[in-house]
Amino acid sequence: MAADARWSIADSAALYGLERWGEPYFSVNARGHVIVQPRGDRGGALDLVELVQELEGRNLSLPLLIRFDDILEDRLERLHAAFERAIAQYGYAGRYQGVFPVKCNQQRHVVEELAESGRRWHFGLEAGSKAELLIALSLVDDPEALLICNGYKDQRYIETAILARRLGRQPVVVIEQADEVERIIRASRALGAAPFIGIRAKLSSRSTGRWGSSVGEKAKFGLTIPDVLATVEALREAGLLGDLRLLHFHVGSQINDIAVLKDALQEAGQIYVELTKLGAPMGFLDVGGGLGVDYDGSRTATAASTNYSLQNYANDVVATVRECCEPHGVTVPTLVSESGRAIASHFSVLVFNVLGTATLPSAIPELQESEPLIVRNLRETLHGITTTASGDEAVLSRLQEAWNDAIKFKEDALAAFRLGYLTLPQRAMAEQLTWACAEAIVERLPRGSAIPDDLRQLRGAMAGTYYANLSVFRSAPDTWAIEQLFPLMPINRLDQEPTRLGHFADLTCDSDGKLARFIGDGQAKPLLELHDLNPDEPYLIGMFLGGAYQEVMGNLHNLFGSTNAVHIRLAPGGGYQVDHVVRGNTNAQVLEAMEHNPGLLLERLRVTSEAAIQRGQLKISEARRLMDHLETSLRQTTYLQE
Ligand SMILES: *Cc1c(COP(=O)(O)O)cnc(C)c1O
Repeated sequence: MAADARWSIADSAALYGLERWGEPYFSVNARGHVIVQPRGDRGGALDLVELVQELEGRNLSLPLLIRFDDILEDRLERLHAAFERAIAQYGYAGRYQGVFPVKCNQQRHVVEELAESGRRWHFGLEAGSKAELLIALSLVDDPEALLICNGYKDQRYIETAILARRLGRQPVVVIEQADEVERIIRASRALGAAPFIGIRAKLSSRSTGRWGSSVGEKAKFGLTIPDVLATVEALREAGLLGDLRLLHFHVGSQINDIAVLKDALQEAGQIYVELTKLGAPMGFLDVGGGLGVDYDGSRTATAASTNYSLQNYANDVVATVRECCEPHGVTVPTLVSESGRAIASHFSVLVFNVLGTATLPSAIPELQESEPLIVRNLRETLHGITTTASGDEAVLSRLQEAWNDAIKFKEDALAAFRLGYLTLPQRAMAEQLTWACAEAIVERLPRGSAIPDDLRQLRGAMAGTYYANLSVFRSAPDTWAIEQLFPLMPINRLDQEPTRLGHFADLTCDSDGKLARFIGDGQAKPLLELHDLNPDEPYLIGMFLGGAYQEVMGNLHNLFGSTNAVHIRLAPGGGYQVDHVVRGNTNAQVLEAMEHNPGLLLERLRVTSEAAIQRGQLKISEARRLMDHLETSLRQTTYLQE
């Protein structure tokens, strides 16, 4: 399809906010395709549409989760570079040494990639459960890297951490509940060795946003100040105070407002100083997660955004901790952060196709010989609209008048139908003509001028449902559970003007299964500008910034399983390489997850078809076709094939 002279790729980039949230990884090329620069501004770009086509050529069907490992590494580099700059700028006499919270994305290839590329900074992992601890212990073998052990801990969890220290690892058991100190003391006595110990403090600083309740006296985790003091004394008595090395706090995910972080840092900085005065060796201050992602690119302290940059964040951490320690002559700690969202969001892009649309029936019906007056009236109204010259000064008032007429005639048509004066085909004609009027008006609305409300809303009323080949519950659960906003946009046809408004409905039979919140100017909007479908061209949609939390939170609603996933890297000589392919769940696998036996299910249907053949209700060839379909479906992913 030819590019549109009135519409440019720059218009698309502006419309979908690509320059605001996509920098430096995503932009549009001259062909109207989204391109990915996995190393940011350091060179190398991939046409996302071509990539998808080539992956489909390798029998990887949509929806596809594409993980750009270079982006993951770039995020890690940016995080470290920001802290290095801040440390230099503020003359901070300590280091930064981060960990990745495994709960953000536990996928093997993701954690392995982070452990590998984080080696040069002694980057570690944070675990919140026994299974995550197992991942952390086995994947990080750098003796300097930290393994932060959070979450609820039983005796076995604690003993595992203690013994791991003998393997040359650096596990830090963080006391999050007051009763954990007793368990640590008991385990240390039993094993004749102690772990590195940390304390998570409940800060009184307020937070905001969705995870604001992660701090404050009612927070689920952390010790109150009296408990902190009691814990220090208990450790002292048990001879373990020498192992208290770390103070931890976490103000909740996606901190929107940097002021919240500053308050928390000041409070935690003072607690740190006091702990050293109580005789604990300390050495590490762990500022937790919360480093936010600017999903809508607005740079504001709102839910889908942050009012600070990565550099602002690092500067505040470094400067505030220094300010707390210096006046007391306390050696500044090694700074630890547990940034998950900020590291893992950008690297994965979910691409799905649109299967079809439901739009209003606006086709113009053929002229009949004797049409009822109401239908003729609507035809004349439509004629009036289509002959309105766009240069006409009074165009708005003419269109408004025509719309008022159309509404009136449509109501008349309904009334006439109810009374039996209009046949079903005639009523259908009246409806088609009304929507044809609406469409003709929308096409003629002058750009940029003040348009009356009900004409402006006409575009929304004409909005279509775009059927998306995905399950929201599987691939974007936070959009449903907590109204999380992710950037969504077509990745092809960006050289053409999107003339429709629409939202996405997913494959599940759940009316919540939809994507109907999009990045808008200042506020999320319920409809997105989209293109009319072309029968000979797939319409591909990308969901961006969803690399954190979505995969593990996703569920099997309606038995839609995981999607195909691939790991892509820029190849040294240009182009790309497919490092790993992670096949999506097959129908057989999701059935087995619910304790069904796919073989048995098939066998029952085979027996039933034999009986139908016996009764002469089914031909042998039909039975074979049915069994073929069922067997093939069991081997394929749970999504629709084109
Ligand atoms: C969830 C969590 C994190 C990660 O938070 P992000 O906002 O994703 O960076 C870090 N630390 C703890 C204790 C957590 O519970």
